[in-house]
Amino acid sequence: MATYTPMIQQYLTIKADYEDAFLFFRLGDFYEMFFEDAVKASQELEITLTSRDGGGSERIPMCGVPYHSATNYIDRLIERGYKVAICEQVEDPKSAKGVVKREVVQVISPGTLMEQAGLEEKENNYICSVTQFEDSTYGLAFSDLSTGENSVTIISGSWDEVIAEIYVQEAKEIVVDSDFSAEHLQKLQERKAITISFESQTSSLENFESLIGNIQQEKLVQTFSRLIHYLVRTQKRSLDHLQPVQFYQINEFMKIDLFSKRNLELTETIRTKGKKGSLLWLLDQTVTAMGGRLLKQWVDRPLLNPQHIENRLNMVETLMNQFFEREELRELLKEVYDLERLAGRVAFGNVNARDLIQLKKSLQKVPGIQEVVSRLDHPYAHELAGKIDRCEELETLLENGLKDNPPLSVKEGDIIKDGYHHQLDQYRDASKHGKSWIAALEQREREKTGIKSLKIGYNRVFGYYIEVTKANLALLPEGMYERKQTLANAERFVTPELKEKEALILEAEEKIVQLEYDLFLHLREEVKAFIPRLQALAKIVSELDVLQCFAKISEERHYRKPSFSEDGKIVIQNGRHPVVEKVMNSQEYVPNDCYMDNDRSILLITGPNMSGKSTYMRQVALTAVLAQIGCFVPADEAVMPIFDQIFTRIGAADDLVSGQSTFMVEMLETKNAVTKATQSSLILLDEIGRGTSTYDGMALAQAIIEYVHEHIGCKTLFSTHYHELTVLEEELSSVKNVHVSAVEKNGKVVFLHKIKEGAADKSYGIHVAELAELPAPLIERARVILDKLEQQGEEPVHDLDIPLQREESQPETAAASQLIPQQVTQENQLSFFDFHEQKTTQTVEPALSKREKTILHQLKDLDILEMTPLEALNKMYELQKQLKKK
Ligand code: ADP
Repeated sequence: MATYTPMIQQYLTIKADYEDAFLFFRLGDFYEMFFEDAVKASQELEITLTSRDGGGSERIPMCGVPYHSATNYIDRLIERGYKVAICEQVEDPKSAKGVVKREVVQVISPGTLMEQAGLEEKENNYICSVTQFEDSTYGLAFSDLSTGENSVTIISGSWDEVIAEIYVQEAKEIVVDSDFSAEHLQKLQERKAITISFESQTSSLENFESLIGNIQQEKLVQTFSRLIHYLVRTQKRSLDHLQPVQFYQINEFMKIDLFSKRNLELTETIRTKGKKGSLLWLLDQTVTAMGGRLLKQWVDRPLLNPQHIENRLNMVETLMNQFFEREELRELLKEVYDLERLAGRVAFGNVNARDLIQLKKSLQKVPGIQEVVSRLDHPYAHELAGKIDRCEELETLLENGLKDNPPLSVKEGDIIKDGYHHQLDQYRDASKHGKSWIAALEQREREKTGIKSLKIGYNRVFGYYIEVTKANLALLPEGMYERKQTLANAERFVTPELKEKEALILEAEEKIVQLEYDLFLHLREEVKAFIPRLQALAKIVSELDVLQCFAKISEERHYRKPSFSEDGKIVIQNGRHPVVEKVMNSQEYVPNDCYMDNDRSILLITGPNMSGKSTYMRQVALTAVLAQIGCFVPADEAVMPIFDQIFTRIGAADDLVSGQSTFMVEMLETKNAVTKATQSSLILLDEIGRGTSTYDGMALAQAIIEYVHEHIGCKTLFSTHYHELTVLEEELSSVKNVHVSAVEKNGKVVFLHKIKEGAADKSYGIHVAELAELPAPLIERARVILDKLEQQGEEPVHDLDIPLQREESQPETAAASQLIPQQVTQENQLSFFDFHEQKTTQTVEPALSKREKTILHQLKDLDILEMTPLEALNKMYELQKQLKKK
């Protein structure tokens, strides 16, 4: 190090404390990065890598970004999960002796974003600290620095449960002890990238004790303190906006694990990972950013407490009944600014005068909101109205202090109103007088000289001047004014008097700007005192916003108020999938009923592909979610139990991206369901076993149904294309068959999307192939094959006493033969080639062309049992097209 220049030495000393962050090292108008940071940043940000001499034997890699556009680059790094330490010059370079003093003033990381750019308006941005205790419990503390919300919980369970909770809250960053289990961290990052940070201090911090309030448990205090230590260490500024810590228990809410949340597309779609097309997207009729965030929290966490659910539902009902009040409320809410994030920025010192004007305008709407809410005919509405704090003093303060259209910058003046501060008024007077004196001077000098075009002007370099055109110069007595500047066709002059006035004006203006800035800072400090009150107001505003949103959507989409059963009964009449219905146009959507109770707890749904099986299953789950978040539901009538958890296995090839094989994901999701579900849970299993060989898959599917039936007894919707499973209805008392109907209309299969009792008739593949006009002999042949397969399978054994586990040594087919048609063995396999070789008795056109033979070869090679009817249809269509070619 000794050979490096003093500046590089300073860099290295600072960098040593921020190993895990890009160090943005301020050098004049640039933030520079050196060494490895520079190499990596130049790749990540696609900026030029250069080098500089740093005193060592080799040149030092270097890259930099301009100070004024740094935020863009910082945002890009944060988005990719990195951290950035901002290192500023903390003394005036002019007065510095030796190297300018520099310090890190803030570390920006994915979990500590404060500025709008990297933050989604309608999403929280959580950072989470986790402490593992010796008794295998985990303390979790969550904080959203941008809004100041803090919460803590204890999980006494496996690390998987902790991961689930971190996923549910979508924390962007996790803070753990430096010796935290690396294995745990790796597991956490397997399915979703999350930034990891370390903080070992857990002692409670004096300034933050008031936040902990009534949290008694030492474990939680430690966990929260770890988070605070991290925030204090990295943010290095006021955290006055942090709100008192809320304790919650994960079992207060319906549990929906990460897989299921994704499968049900609650907050983002599977395909695009975006909000559009999700349940949240459909529901989001909130008009404030705060309401948007609360809506997402509610969707993420359906309630279990019937009283709380009823409370929300009743408010929604009231808002539906009182249309005018609702619309009025909605209009008023539209004008309310993001008070929570504003409060955070006030604490951080990041607000400008325009923000405060927005705050004032928001506060001016509050009396109206209070009034309209008190007109709502519901006790809870009155309670909310009573709790609304108008923060009138703050409104008056802002009204008196700030001009209505202040500039963006707080350092250029024009912010503070006249009459607010005596000294400021005096400076303004002085400036104004000076200016009017100058204006009068123009008139006087014109008269004196008789030059009509004489004018007084101002520019930044020369200040005030008298301008006379060249043509009129002759009229000017020599030596009357002092010559200042010569232009192409004019001369500019000054007089001692003009200079004097100018000095007065400029001095006054300088003082005005400085005083306005000081007054603004003072005002901002005063606003700080209102932060807790603003946060309390924000809570009520956001709740009202979500409730009006539920009412609006329920009215628009004709949702009905659900009621809740205590005996586990589900009655849904004319239920719809909320998102599919919206996307496809209500008239085309076919509503469906669902009836389930404890004697009819497993529905086995059969029907052709694309007929609507998974839509039906999701619709039941989404109805449950909507009911438990307190929204009306898309049905004519809905009676639902309160589900404690929802598990799903839906969708075919949707997880290829995550690197896990589809079948593995399928099994993981199923494991999750069967090991964690209780009798009060809802399980959706779609086409289980499809990802493996037919017999394997079918065996698993049956075993899963049996397991759920025997050991869990929860409401389960199970769709399958294994028609053979429908006989389970006879064996298992609570299993019932339903199917999605399809008919043939004008030579086409038409999916009616209607759920009906009983099992589907099975031969869709051939039926569809026939409709696709495959050659008659081919269809005929397929029927023969099918008949034969079915005959062989006439004696399936369904004996629950015979365990399905097969001996290791047994061949795969032995176990499968318990429940499915005998596998076609080598001896009795029907020779497809008979067809082609014309050794069979089937009627076949005698002379086949070469192309036809090739097509038949292709047909022969198809593994039909591994294909879905749709794939078969496509293949047949393609083959037929080739056959028809002339
Ligand atoms: P499956 O699970 O049987 O393969 P899906 O549930 O994926 O079928 O449904 C396939 C498509 O059918 C959906 O994308 C939707 O367009 C349509 N669909 C499903 N259910 C209905 C319904 N009830 N009314 C109208 N169209 C529906």
